[in-house]
Amino acid sequence: MPESSAERNAPNWPVIATILGVLFVACGLIYGLSQNELLTLSGGIGVGLILAIGWWLGADATKILVEKKSLLAQGEVASPADPGTLNKAVGTTLVRDAVRFARSAIEATPNPVLIVDAAGRLVGTNQPARDRFSIDTGQIRFSAVIRRPNLVDAVSDVFKTGVTRTLSIESRVPVDRYERVSIAAFEADQERFVLLSIQDETEARMSERMRADFLANASHELRTPLAGIIGFIETLRGPAREDAVARDRFLEIMHLQADRMSRLISDLLSLSRIELNEHVAPTARSDFAAAVQEIVESLPPDKQKRIQFKVGDDPLWVIGDWDEIQQIAANLIDNALKYGGAQSEVRIILSAWLPRESALRSAMREWDGASRLPLTSPEVDRERLYCTLRVEDSGPGIARQHLPRLSERFYRVEETATGKSGTGLGLAIVKHIVNRHRGGLVVESEQGRGTAFSVYLPQPLELGPVRTIAEVQAT
Ligand code: ADP
Repeated sequence: MPESSAERNAPNWPVIATILGVLFVACGLIYGLSQNELLTLSGGIGVGLILAIGWWLGADATKILVEKKSLLAQGEVASPADPGTLNKAVGTTLVRDAVRFARSAIEATPNPVLIVDAAGRLVGTNQPARDRFSIDTGQIRFSAVIRRPNLVDAVSDVFKTGVTRTLSIESRVPVDRYERVSIAAFEADQERFVLLSIQDETEARMSERMRADFLANASHELRTPLAGIIGFIETLRGPAREDAVARDRFLEIMHLQADRMSRLISDLLSLSRIELNEHVAPTARSDFAAAVQEIVESLPPDKQKRIQFKVGDDPLWVIGDWDEIQQIAANLIDNALKYGGAQSEVRIILSAWLPRESALRSAMREWDGASRLPLTSPEVDRERLYCTLRVEDSGPGIARQHLPRLSERFYRVEETATGKSGTGLGLAIVKHIVNRHRGGLVVESEQGRGTAFSVYLPQPLELGPVRTIAEVQAT
């Protein structure tokens, strides 16, 4: 453990006393004092020295206690979680260090931690808590930060009874989140405080729910192609055993069914993986323009010819995972090519550094007579700027009544999907990736004109154009 400044600055009293003693005896001998005179004089000086040291230590401890009280009153520090630590620290005059120690310990805790005093003020929080509840430095009322009546009631209950409680809380916006809060009281300086420690259980709960969903969906969707394959095998072993033409045709169909099963499994697996991490927003920076360009270039030449896409030289940064933003682009472009009709053109438009309202406008307000709907939206954040990707086709369009169900798992629009291969999971995957990225997904469609799906993703302001948000909003 590093040496504290209090320990470093303390005088080394045993060494000083030994030096003074030796000097005193030497002087006595030089001036020829008797043994009794020497003993009486040294006794007097010893008592004086002890009184002086006692006064010095007492003054220092009082100063530290006063300082600690004032720090607590300003709510600048958390009180030590363990009164035992505090008592030990008082005994060794290290109260100031005990307060710092407690603050550092709370700050180092990976889970969100909040400390509330008897007046309902937040007197201590760590960074995970400040991030989780978007606490500003000016916010000091616990009930203003946590607007959950059951949690506020539980905290006042623990204040009254001193009995530790645990509570489960669920949030739905912007994404599903499950948390367990432990609420415990502790005493410090004859005052009662309550400490809330929050455990994120989303991953465990989601994986439990997903395992059940996955089994139900997968078995339902896999049963049809599997039944087909089994039927063809039986036919090939029986009536069609000697029929070479039928055998080739059946093998071809079996191949298609097996392909469909393999696509289904890979889509289900990527959906599960994304859902599992959906509550953890990405932190990486990726160039959305480069990601889309790479997807376009990976298409066969006949499909590339149908795509209109121009990118500038500047990177269009988004806060996102490269692989996931590529999956968004791949699914939307694949749908536009597939459902837009064999000859239709697909337009890809990227717009960047837009405030939320402008992003929404550029995403879904292009066609006057069209129906439009947000399929998922981020929380309102006036400080954010967004990059929009719009993928437009000139296909048959989707009737208005289908729009709300478009990103549901396995939902396929009969009029457009008949005869086209697909799993009904592509848009569900896009929606979950967009949710994880705290972005939005919208659809605009007009029958006879075409369909446009757009996503808008948050951009990292530090990599943006050198303009303030207010300037961008004004344009
Ligand atoms: P999949 O394409 O695998 O069926 P999706 O989730 O990607 O699954 O799409 C769901 C349904 O939405 C599709 O089956 C199709 O009916 C409809 N759809 C998606 N994109 C378009 C589009 N660009 N034009 C018309 N219909 C579309």
